[in-house]
Amino acid sequence: NLGAPDGEESNKDVLLGGLLVPGFDKQSCASRYQSVYYRKNMTRLPSPYLIKRLREHEALQRRCGPGTKPYIRATERLRSEQQVLDSNDGCNYLVLISYRGLGNRILATNSAFLYALLTNRVLLVDPGHGNTLPDLFCEPFPGSTWVLPPDFPVTNFRDLDEAAPESYANVVVNRSRSVTGLRFVYAHLDHDASQANRLVYCDDHREFLHRVQWMILRTDQYMSPGFFFNPAYESELQRMFPRTDSVFYIISRYLMHPTNEVWGMVTRFYNSYLRDADERLGIQIRVFGDENKSAQHVLDQILACTSREHLLPAVASTGGGGGAPPLMTSSGSKAVLITCLSSWYHDNIREMYWKSGAENGEVVSVHQPSHEGRQHWFHGEHDMKALAEIFLLSLTDKIVTSGQSTFGYVSHALGGLTPYITYRTMDETVADPPCARTVSMEPCAFTVPHFDCVKKDYTVDIPPRTATIRTCEDVFWGVKLT
Ligand code: GDP
Repeated sequence: NLGAPDGEESNKDVLLGGLLVPGFDKQSCASRYQSVYYRKNMTRLPSPYLIKRLREHEALQRRCGPGTKPYIRATERLRSEQQVLDSNDGCNYLVLISYRGLGNRILATNSAFLYALLTNRVLLVDPGHGNTLPDLFCEPFPGSTWVLPPDFPVTNFRDLDEAAPESYANVVVNRSRSVTGLRFVYAHLDHDASQANRLVYCDDHREFLHRVQWMILRTDQYMSPGFFFNPAYESELQRMFPRTDSVFYIISRYLMHPTNEVWGMVTRFYNSYLRDADERLGIQIRVFGDENKSAQHVLDQILACTSREHLLPAVASTGGGGGAPPLMTSSGSKAVLITCLSSWYHDNIREMYWKSGAENGEVVSVHQPSHEGRQHWFHGEHDMKALAEIFLLSLTDKIVTSGQSTFGYVSHALGGLTPYITYRTMDETVADPPCARTVSMEPCAFTVPHFDCVKKDYTVDIPPRTATIRTCEDVFWGVKLT
């Protein structure tokens, strides 16, 4: 018994319609088996074709992953510094470099997995400085590890940049697609990647990349919408995801299972402060720049948004001093979960509902798990708190997120929630309107190709749009799947 709430253990499909494979140890990664008791039923189900491809991919990770003979052979070839083309083992690899904040890393990992699936490559994730990946997530593939082993032979792989001779742009533009003599190809899809490097999105892997055993990928971005511009992946993506707005949602349910330590933080907080409310509202506040500064315009914008969208009740104008407060209230309860690096916004909103009651009689409680002060990079405990908060936000019923924040994107997309997103202003004013309901639950992608994938002419800047890919509400150069 995993102690699921409400004793409804036997009624739930913990494997999510075949998305998850049975056979993992239930005690070592409880979130895999317990999430279903905390989440709403899935609003998008995995297609039978996707399930088939996932099983094939798991077999690939098992057959070729670290510790296997093919992996040992592949790394020996890489170490020998000779050209590494055309392996006989049928084992090709995608190494994802981890960098930037946790939201960025989750977006990158989710979409790198889709790329690995599309190109039949074993996904190996750099555990990052301080080896924080295993503190955060359980292994997603049975009988195999996705953590890049510490003895990976390209020792300086985290230093690769656009100037690398192995960069995809260099291979395509200067080497006329010849990979002869290269040990690996490096895909640079950082948020500021050049147009030439973004050609990866339009690559037909069958052309020459399939010969390259090792691909190293740098991205801090959500890449998936970019793959939808590529005619080579069109039918495969269509079969995997008949509904394009479910790509992150379904992949994250498959791939992202927090470790017991993080999941304990999620469930303890949820059960203490959120579970018993009639409704849960998440508010994710990200203030770029001076994170510790208390920004009145940010607070004003959030309150303008929650009022305009009827997410929070107005407070009674009589305040606390006037009429007699009611003995009991039966108007329902709302638990507000706030996440932010600072506690100032939480304190203000909580005090507002302490000094005066809600006009409609609702009982409003306001909670914030942590206020870390500032962002840290690859710091175990800090990252675990951030991940727990991302998961807590994803368990709310409605959510307000901050524009341009990947932390916010991941929180709503994981929950299958279509958020109200607050617009980021540069001049410390309140945006008008303060927020908007977005067109879908998918995260925004900032680095898609800005050219036509059929013509592959990267010198002509045309942000492509299709019927299912729209401009993001909060980033005019970004796109999202709908
Ligand atoms: P972005 O910068 O908003 O796109 O989000 P990232 O997640 O990529 O980077 C921000 C980092 O700052 C997070 O990973 C956390 O380390 C930290 N951080 C930002 N907001 C919060 C928050 O609300 N709670 C916690 N615990 N950490 C936060």
